[in-house]
Amino acid sequence: MKRLAILGSTGSIGVNTLAVVERHPDLFSVVALSADRQVDRLFGQIRQHQPRYAAMADLASANQLRSRVREAGLKCEVLSGPSSLEQIASAAEVDAVMAAIVGSPGLRSTLAAAHAGKQLLLANKEALVMAGPLLMNAVKASGAALLPIDSEHNAIFQALPRGFDGNFAHGGVRRLWLTASGGPFLRTPREQLGSVTPDQACAHPKWVMGRKISVDSATLMNKGLEVIEASFLFNANPSQIQVVIHPQSIVHSLVEYVDGSVLAQLGNPDMRTPIAHALAYPQRIDPGVEPLDLCAIASLSFERPDLERFPCLGLAFRALGAGGSAPIVLNAANEVAVAKFLAGLLPFARIAELVEEVLSALPVVGVSTLEDVMGADAQARRAAECRLETVTH
Ligand code: MG
Repeated sequence: MKRLAILGSTGSIGVNTLAVVERHPDLFSVVALSADRQVDRLFGQIRQHQPRYAAMADLASANQLRSRVREAGLKCEVLSGPSSLEQIASAAEVDAVMAAIVGSPGLRSTLAAAHAGKQLLLANKEALVMAGPLLMNAVKASGAALLPIDSEHNAIFQALPRGFDGNFAHGGVRRLWLTASGGPFLRTPREQLGSVTPDQACAHPKWVMGRKISVDSATLMNKGLEVIEASFLFNANPSQIQVVIHPQSIVHSLVEYVDGSVLAQLGNPDMRTPIAHALAYPQRIDPGVEPLDLCAIASLSFERPDLERFPCLGLAFRALGAGGSAPIVLNAANEVAVAKFLAGLLPFARIAELVEEVLSALPVVGVSTLEDVMGADAQARRAAECRLETVTH
């Protein structure tokens, strides 16, 4: 029986994780759940899965949840405040941590799970983008197992040699190929991209996801963040990572070997597949995903990404090449820009421009501690906010 903590249990990955867990009550038990402020949904999950702990970062939400848990007579300790997530990520009763909090708020708890030597099921890509070397070192030092949940990285993990240690020459690996659906604006002319709305940007053709990651998919920043993620996860340099547009989202990514072999992982676009793979690894379990019907799909197509219409992808490669604080700056400026866009306060095309401006304005500095990471993050957010102020007033 694997005992799980699910950080971000009310989000899309969290809900899918619980859906897989429900099918296999003999294999998994839920020890801890956490959410930001969705009290109703978290309470429903607590009633169903009876975890020992629940954590809410938001104090008012935690208080509401605490009284509902008490009224219902449930035995669940409700923790609150920023350190509560780190507490459940490293709790002794937990074997594996699903790190599914979106964005930089998930960083500390992800690192805590790695330091505690937990099996880390990593869906929070920002933890790698912001603190890749720190996280990978923590994993190595504690002997934690790291299993990627992001569908592309999970596909690459499956297509790499078992036990791949990051040595490309030793594994006979030439390059990693990340596939990208191209998002909802794959065929939208450049001049129309200026006026697209948040709802249009969030209407992803293949994947159902949260709003922040949906916007990132529409700008291709999501793929850019995934390039950085892949670089740290698999010890690849920028020239060893390629991106290919694949609108059907059936091939989730590929590994090219020196002998010309290319291994791909295919499946219906359903996050329950990578979640089940990581939950059960190295076993395989049925997550309830529709079997792939290749004849119904009939054809798969591939094309080069258009960096002119989607500059965010190029910016991510640039930040990865620059190293140090640059990926942190890229991520922070993007989070600020996407939040403004979702609030209806920034045109779509300005997202990439703002990221580019902040990336160019700030010097690249070395990063060796979590404080360095948070400092670079805060500075980039200030720079982004400051630019938005001067434009709007
Ligand atoms: Mg992905």
